[in-house]
Amino acid sequence: MRKILNLLLLTMMFVSGCSTTEPPSPTEHPPTLQPTEAITATPAPTEVSLPEGSTLTVHFIDVGQADAALVLCDGQTMLIDGGNAQDSSLIAAYLKKLGVDYLNYVVCTHAHEDHVGGLSGALSVAGAGTVYAPETAVESDAYDNFIRKVAEQNLQITHPEHGSVISLGSSSVQFIGPITEATDDVNNTSIVLKIQYGQTSFLFTGDAEYDEELNIVDAGYDLSADVLKVGHHGSDSSTSYIFLRHVMPKYAVISVGKDNNYDHPNEKTLSRLRDEGAEVFRTDLQGDVIATSDGESISFVTERNETAQTNPTEVKAAEGTYIGNINSKKFHRPDCNSLPAEKNRVYFSSREEAVNGGYTPCGNCRP
Ligand SMILES: [Zn+2]
Ligand SMILES: [Zn+2]
Repeated sequence: MRKILNLLLLTMMFVSGCSTTEPPSPTEHPPTLQPTEAITATPAPTEVSLPEGSTLTVHFIDVGQADAALVLCDGQTMLIDGGNAQDSSLIAAYLKKLGVDYLNYVVCTHAHEDHVGGLSGALSVAGAGTVYAPETAVESDAYDNFIRKVAEQNLQITHPEHGSVISLGSSSVQFIGPITEATDDVNNTSIVLKIQYGQTSFLFTGDAEYDEELNIVDAGYDLSADVLKVGHHGSDSSTSYIFLRHVMPKYAVISVGKDNNYDHPNEKTLSRLRDEGAEVFRTDLQGDVIATSDGESISFVTERNETAQTNPTEVKAAEGTYIGNINSKKFHRPDCNSLPAEKNRVYFSSREEAVNGGYTPCGNCRP
C-alpha cells in the first residue's frame, strides 16, 4: 500500500512538473550541486570559449629606455606606446615585418616622449581606428607630432573612461586608469589597461606610480593578471607591494634600456618582484620579448638570452636556517634579497619545518 502511495506521489510530482511552465522550485527537486565558483563568480570574459585557431600575441618591443607593445589578436591590432621619437623607424619596420598596416587601436599611455615619441612612426605607415590618450597638460615636440599624425588621418583623440571595455579580436580590453584627473604629475595620468583573453590576462600600467597604483587598488577593479608590464621601467616609485598583491603576476616584463641613467630597473622593485615569485623578462637583457597565449597558458620567446639571469639574488645561499614572512607565508634562504622586516620574520631550522608550517618557497631564492 505504501509503495502504491509513493508511486502515486511520484507520478503527481512528475505530472505537476510537466504541466507547469514555471521552473521547478527547490522544494520539488533538490538543487543540482554546483562547484562553489560557479555560484559566487560573476560571469567573466574568462568563460568565453575561444574560436578555433584563435591566439593572442603581445610583442614587448625593445625600444631601449622606453615602452612599446604591439598586441595582435585574431587579426586585430593594438599598439600601446611607441618608444622614443628616435624609435619611429624601428616601430615602422616592426609593423612592416609583421605585415601590419592597420592598427585598430593606438594607445598613448601618457605624453612623455619615451611613450608617445615613436607613435608618429607607427601612424606614418599604418592607418588607425581609435586613438586613445589621457587628458594631459604636457606640451612637447613628441606629443605635438603625435597629435599632427592623428589629425592627418582625420582622427580625434579619445580619452578613455576608466571601467569601459572594448574588444580586440576574442580578447576584451578594460580601461582601469587613469583614475587621476589631468595633473602635472604626467606619469600618474597613464592609461592603465587589462587585456583578458580566455583565462589569461595582461596588465599594462604605463608609468603609473605609487599614488595612482593606490587609486587603482581603491577603485576595486580586478587587477589579477598573469603578465604585468612593470610600471615606469622598473622604477622604485612604481610596483608597490600593495599593488603587486592585487595583481599577483606570474610574469613581469620590464621595458628598460641598458645602462640607463635612472637606475632602472631598481633593485628594490626587482626584490619586490622576487618576493612575489614573478618570473622577470627584461628588454635590456633579452631584446624583444614576445608572449603568446592560447587562452589557457602563456609562453614566452625572447630575441636573445632566453635564459638570462633577469632577476638574480646577489649572495650565494647559506645553509641551516630559513626565514619565513608571516604576512606573505613565503619562506626564504637567509641570503635572499626579499627578506621581510625583522618584525615579520619567523625562523625555521629546516625546509620541512617551513613547508609543514604552511609556508611556500620564495620563487626567487628557491629554498
Ligand atoms: Zn613617463
Ligand atoms: Zn616612461
